[in-house]
Amino acid sequence: MTAVRGVELRGVGKSYGETVAVADVDLRIEDGEFLVLVGPSGCGKSTLLRLIAGLEPATTGSVLLDGHDLAEVPPEDRDMAMVFQDYALYPHMTVARNLGFGLKLRGMDRRERDRRVEEAARMLGLDDLLDRRPSDLSGGQRQRVALGRAAVRQPRAFLMDEPLSNLDASLRTSMRAELTRLHERLGVTTVYVTHDQVEAMTLGTRVAVLRDGLLQQLATPLALYERPANLFVAGFVGSPRMNLAAAKVADGTVRLGDWTLPLDGAYGRDLPEDVIVGIRPSDLHLVPDGGADGRPTISVSPAVVEELGSERQVVFPVAARPLDLDGDVAAPGADADARLLADDHRSYFVAALPARAPVTADRDLTLAVDVDWLYLFDASDGRSLRGASSTTLS
Ligand code: ADP
Repeated sequence: MTAVRGVELRGVGKSYGETVAVADVDLRIEDGEFLVLVGPSGCGKSTLLRLIAGLEPATTGSVLLDGHDLAEVPPEDRDMAMVFQDYALYPHMTVARNLGFGLKLRGMDRRERDRRVEEAARMLGLDDLLDRRPSDLSGGQRQRVALGRAAVRQPRAFLMDEPLSNLDASLRTSMRAELTRLHERLGVTTVYVTHDQVEAMTLGTRVAVLRDGLLQQLATPLALYERPANLFVAGFVGSPRMNLAAAKVADGTVRLGDWTLPLDGAYGRDLPEDVIVGIRPSDLHLVPDGGADGRPTISVSPAVVEELGSERQVVFPVAARPLDLDGDVAAPGADADARLLADDHRSYFVAALPARAPVTADRDLTLAVDVDWLYLFDASDGRSLRGASSTTLS
């Protein structure tokens, strides 16, 4: 039997004393895939990456590469190249020597070394910088050298831990594009850690969302956005974030504050009475002159209109219990209800309207609700009540 190629985690867990950094993660990273591990600070993503690299032993479970258990394989023999946010280039060496030094240490002959360095330099646009020292480079150029140093090794996998987080916003955007291009060119299996959901969505072939050491959902970026498995993923993915508030289900409708919205066929009949409703800001629309095309409408009183140029965001109150959006929204197993702000019966929702939409903060407004994209979550455990993505693992 031929082994499945790629990296596989089987029931991997890691504890530091009482702290559970990673809990029982099952995950298969396909050969050639760009998999992103994302989640808030402290969710265990760096620990997971270190376990794959072999920098620390797992407390439970095993890490496999191409079907082989790596437990006895030290990091230097795993053929995985790590890239961190601090590039740790050798300051006294030129770019060319920085790129080739690791290969030299491994005893590679000079001709092959030069060939690989040239190839990486060309791919990463470093040709003209080969004679410079790191101190003469910009932050973006240094990060490209760090990437090049990993690429020349032609490893089985790249393991990247927040490699772009020291760069300013515009540079991050262009480096994201370079990383995608590099991955398309080299096709090397990549595991990429970030806390930034935009980075995760734009880079990942698939994205694994972690929280408190637990895998919440593993899916393509679009599936995460369209079919979040639970409240946590729903609130984490998407900007502006999904509007969420407590509601009641009755007679095939959902009562959200003063509004009654019909439920579409995606929801079965066995719904709990207490739910959390989610509506993405982009699924609220201005009603055109011709009417709402049969879509249900809500009448709202804007509190604020935020001008973003490319769109206008209307913030309006909803007479429903809000979720504690400053803290984390609930994950499976957590007591979601406790996170509702019990005494407050006013939430704020956001509608993302087109540029120059004719709205002002002093005038009431009618919005059509795209009920096909209404989300319902069980108020008791935060699970999606809509069929979640089939690749959900939690
Ligand atoms: P992330 O990368 O998602 O920010 P980490 O993997 O760094 O999270 O950490 C996950 C949890 O494990 C945190 O609670 C962190 O404090 C703890 N942790 C990580 N490394 C150690 C360590 N060497 N010793 C003790 N606790 C650690």
